[in-house]
Amino acid sequence: MKHIAKTVGFKPGERNIFFHILTACNLSCCHCYINKDQHGTQQLTKEQMEKWMALFADPAKKSNMIFLGGEPTMHPDLPFAIQKAKELGYFVTVDSNGYLFNDLLVKTSPDLLDFLSFSLDGPDAETNDPIRGEGVFETCVANIKRAVSIGFNVSVIYTVSRKNLSSLSRMIPLLLELKVKKFFIQVIGLRGKSALTDSDEIQVSREQWLDTVPEVARIAAEKGIHVTYPKVFLSPGEKFECAGVVSENFFVFPNGRVYQCPLCEDHPINAYTIEDNRLVKNNGLREDSFFRLNIEEGCVMNKLLQPDTIEYDERGRALYPISCCLLKQEIG
Ligand code: SF4
Ligand code: SF4
Repeated sequence: MKHIAKTVGFKPGERNIFFHILTACNLSCCHCYINKDQHGTQQLTKEQMEKWMALFADPAKKSNMIFLGGEPTMHPDLPFAIQKAKELGYFVTVDSNGYLFNDLLVKTSPDLLDFLSFSLDGPDAETNDPIRGEGVFETCVANIKRAVSIGFNVSVIYTVSRKNLSSLSRMIPLLLELKVKKFFIQVIGLRGKSALTDSDEIQVSREQWLDTVPEVARIAAEKGIHVTYPKVFLSPGEKFECAGVVSENFFVFPNGRVYQCPLCEDHPINAYTIEDNRLVKNNGLREDSFFRLNIEEGCVMNKLLQPDTIEYDERGRALYPISCCLLKQEIG
């Protein structure tokens, strides 16, 4: 069977809750997007986690709850939160850096946790560890093996930058050996710590991205791995849609800020805030004031925050609109 990547349009009636239950982490990755000045340093209480999850629960919609941090397994009540999320009808995922603190594999079960996702930025310690920290590759791989052996569905997230793009294809044999079911390839964003680095040092060009990522995804899919990667560049004439307008995504932080667009997370323009366990819509100039602006460059926030990513012709017209960062291609 020939594997062809398809763009997965935003699905009406589906909602995704990206729930940062704390911002603390044992690692200090080069591209970490957590910004404690903007996202707080709190760790949510059990009561807050339960009440905040209920704010977004809607049995009429397929709802995905993705637990994030910081490192979410550092929260001792994560197993409780997973259980409550399941009771509220969510499809539940935990994104971990691989350390799996607090005996997560023992304290929860594959019946409650639908997917356990591990971040790896290289197929070996030589590539991964300069980005994520010394010894991280070994620990992460050992815990992937443990999780798979217990019966958890495991996925891996790989954040592509100039530092590891050339190693991406070597992930395929590793993922097969580890029996990983899903592979998420992400593009490095200019948020958090990455915003402080010279973008030429880390960001891949359009050519570099298109020369490598779709082909690696196709080969991985042929071998039975389901691969998801961001669309990033639209072809001229291809339809642009802003997820902030056509889909429901909530990026929830422990200081109560709730964003609809991940590109906005470094700025106090969150559309909503959770106050006293209630979801409050913010007034004034907020992220959602920008979502409906129609520009030829595609994503408005990309144009405002990282204009270097846009190429223009000699008449000043954008060559390729930038897609919504939440628009994905899937193959496999
Ligand atoms: S594991 Fe995640 S939260 Fe922790 S430093 Fe790395 S990117 Fe940041
Ligand atoms: S990334 Fe751009 S297109 Fe997507 S939600 Fe944000 S502003 Fe809208």
